[in-house]
Amino acid sequence: MKCEFIKRNHERCGNHAIQGKKFCFWHSPDVSEEMKKTARRQGGKSNKHTPKNDKFIPIKKIESLSDVANLLSDLIYILNCEIPNADSISTKIKLTNSIGYLTNYLISALEKSEMEQKMEALEQLLQEDLYLRRSVPLS
Ligand SMILES: [Zn+2]
Repeated sequence: MKCEFIKRNHERCGNHAIQGKKFCFWHSPDVSEEMKKTARRQGGKSNKHTPKNDKFIPIKKIESLSDVANLLSDLIYILNCEIPNADSISTKIKLTNSIGYLTNYLISALEKSEMEQKMEALEQLLQEDLYLRRSVPLS
């Protein structure tokens, strides 16, 4: 279903209407001005290319380097999804630059998190070793 709103230039809006409604998000009387304002602030008219549930970064507590790596990879993914929505070449270039920038950080976070994991494994081994030594009676 297409939105039935007739624009000032007498053309039909043509956006997809909200499921079961006559109008799209922007023209629906059911959507408050407040919500429209918030949506506008959050990134413009079209989020068509952004996959569902990925519009907002899930906020997860960052406790380790691999959490950092996950966050960076989410951000890169989101920016990448925004490229087709960009309204100008310069915005596309900015997004692409940001992706490159974040990718560098992601690479070093991944390298360091690999180290972190190795260190954790070593610590684990050491502790197990100490535990074994303690529990074996000295002869
Ligand atoms: Zn509409």
